[in-house]
Amino acid sequence: MMEIPLLNFVPMHSEIKSDMQQAFNRVYESNRFVLGEEVRQFEKSYATFNQVEHCVGLSNGLDALHLSLKALGIKEGDEVLLPSNTYIATALAVSHVGAKPVFVEPNIDTYNIDVKCIDAAITTKTKVIMPVHLYGQSCEMENVMEIAHENNLFVIEDNAQAQGASFNNKLTGSWGHVNATSYYPGKNLGAIGDAGAVTTQSEELATKIKTLRNYGSNKKYYNEILGYNMRLDELQAAFLSVKLGKIHEWTRQRIEIASWYDEDLKGVSDLILPKTAEKATHVYHLFVVRTSKRNELQKYLNEKGIGTLIHYPIVPHMQEALKFLDHKKNDFPIAERIAETCLSLPLWPGLLREEVSYVSKCIKFFLRS
Ligand SMILES: *Cc1c(COP(=O)(O)O)cnc(C)c1O
Repeated sequence: MMEIPLLNFVPMHSEIKSDMQQAFNRVYESNRFVLGEEVRQFEKSYATFNQVEHCVGLSNGLDALHLSLKALGIKEGDEVLLPSNTYIATALAVSHVGAKPVFVEPNIDTYNIDVKCIDAAITTKTKVIMPVHLYGQSCEMENVMEIAHENNLFVIEDNAQAQGASFNNKLTGSWGHVNATSYYPGKNLGAIGDAGAVTTQSEELATKIKTLRNYGSNKKYYNEILGYNMRLDELQAAFLSVKLGKIHEWTRQRIEIASWYDEDLKGVSDLILPKTAEKATHVYHLFVVRTSKRNELQKYLNEKGIGTLIHYPIVPHMQEALKFLDHKKNDFPIAERIAETCLSLPLWPGLLREEVSYVSKCIKFFLRS
């Protein structure tokens, strides 16, 4: 029996071990640990990678979403549209600035916000649309931007899962007024601890977020606004610079591994494979399949040594933490259906063809018997 975890850092990390150790030594010897040359350098490289003017390094993805909203002046009384099947962080960030998260159902094929459902959710209080590029696939950003423009709304992309994906050849993280990403270790570009960033074309918003991340201060001990400590640290920036050099190769591998699953699993009954929208690309942060026998399949694969996870088992509108929104079961049936049937299969750069074949063989054996 093979042992195949959902995610395995070893192939990626062994490849870059000596570069990572050098990065550590560089920071250690510099004796500069907060907001120094490493953060500046990484911000510059990531902005180039993401084809935007500005990147501001932050403590994590949740804080990046939070400061994006804050920088746009979103506050109590405002409404923010977000998909009903997102990770909880998107909804938490909206709540943390005092605004109301308003859920919009996803498209059942792409799992991304259904652009046909956005209009109906817009009210006089709506200020922002927050599309989430879920599992690594870009949302249909041309439509999202058009709706935002017509209704005078801001767009904040949640690009935590889709670094390097694009829509009509324009990268995720470069469409919105300001966009958040996460470098949580398991993300496509992951630090070896917590980290995140915003990307934007706006110098004004970048400056505002730099002030907010550093105690509301641009000049030591002069505090202009009520800020936070939400800085990216030098060590994580140095590690991220090493890993950024690998992102194209690792993304290529993710896409290749997804194509192996597609090849092995196409046509299997009661198994829905990922679908990518026209003009969108998918960087396979996760390879998510759906089946009516999800719980049984997960249990079977576990017995066969195969790690899987459910992204996500509880939809945001049914979370205890968001009870104040007064939602009930069936308010967002598509999100609920995805939560009940989805299963993420092992996928990481370095996963071998024979390992994918083994996972696929086990899935086929289970669903056919
Ligand atoms: C990971 C993630 C976040 C939050 O990032 P952290 O760095 O863990 O705070 C936000 N949104 C989505 C969609 C994510 O996957």
